[in-house]
Amino acid sequence: MPRPIRATISAGALAHNLLVAKAYAKGARLWAVVKANAYGHGVERAARALDAADGFAVLDFQEAVRLRAAGVSKPILMLEGFFKPVDLPLLLEHDLTPVIHNAEQVEMLRLAPLAGEIDVYLKVNSGMNRLGFGAESLRPAYNALRMHPQVRSVTLMTHFADADGAGGVQGQLDWFNALAKGFEAPRSLANSAALIRFPEARGDWVRPGIMLYGCSPFAACTAESLNLRPAMTLSAEIIATQRLHAGERIGYGFSYEAVGEMAVGVVACGYADGYPRHAPSGTPVLVNGRRTRTVGRVSMDMICVDITGIPGAGVGSAVTLWGEGLSADEVAASAGTLSYELLCALAPRVPVAEAA
Ligand SMILES: *Cc1c(COP(=O)(O)O)cnc(C)c1O
Repeated sequence: MPRPIRATISAGALAHNLLVAKAYAKGARLWAVVKANAYGHGVERAARALDAADGFAVLDFQEAVRLRAAGVSKPILMLEGFFKPVDLPLLLEHDLTPVIHNAEQVEMLRLAPLAGEIDVYLKVNSGMNRLGFGAESLRPAYNALRMHPQVRSVTLMTHFADADGAGGVQGQLDWFNALAKGFEAPRSLANSAALIRFPEARGDWVRPGIMLYGCSPFAACTAESLNLRPAMTLSAEIIATQRLHAGERIGYGFSYEAVGEMAVGVVACGYADGYPRHAPSGTPVLVNGRRTRTVGRVSMDMICVDITGIPGAGVGSAVTLWGEGLSADEVAASAGTLSYELLCALAPRVPVAEAA
């Protein structure tokens, strides 16, 4: 028998969350963002469950080629475009839409006569200052692309830095709209947070990611309240138990000390499985469906949980680390991170099962 840990991916939850996103999109077309192996869910599996999307957004050629090999025929957006001239023939071979975000890419494209036509996205830096063209350099880049005989269409795109935060999108949105007025091009702006929170930022193509996986883009708002269902459940079993007396300690660094008699379950999941090592004692966890807490440090292959008073808890008991019944957002918040990081960090050694 394999070690008792697995991730279960719910195709039904993915499909449901896509419908929620589509309702917010109100007719705008939708890229399902499946970068980072679909936030840990598996790019092929996610594409199958999300097949009602209008296209898929990925990071690199590896993921794009995996999607094509899996039979995906819809448009594929490459969020960082191409990196080297040798990448260019792949765009045509696999019919991919690159994001062009720097002058070097424009030049590579200019120097490489393509054997057929491609669509491109042109990224505008509206203030995040990570990727994209600013107010002065946008026009020359746009013109160069429009004049390229093999570029079929150019869509303007930008990304918000604080769509989930106090700053919101208004500053970037106003700036982008003022600039984009001078261009006859479709627009793509919104990630999950902007899609939910700022209907005026929808544009022609929206780009939700995290909400499709059933997590909330907002710290102050649960996924459940947004009608999102967790797509990934990470579960394991208790493989050993201990009884502690007051004053006895547990785990590396002896970081947790029992204040009284307590029962502890040792769970077959550690940071080498993707559980966040920085999750402190007190991080929520379910044992036999009952909510309890971790105690002591997360180690490579194990965590310890308080099972005092949980009926029937012992070796073989079911443990939910996150997912159905316990939001990854909540576990992430306890560990000082985001559900994005937890989902993406699911380790390759964890077997994945698919559920309806
Ligand atoms: C990752 C990403 C998204 C999706 O963001 P979420 O917050 O997961 O919805 C959208 N656009 C770009 C450019 C991205 O890199």
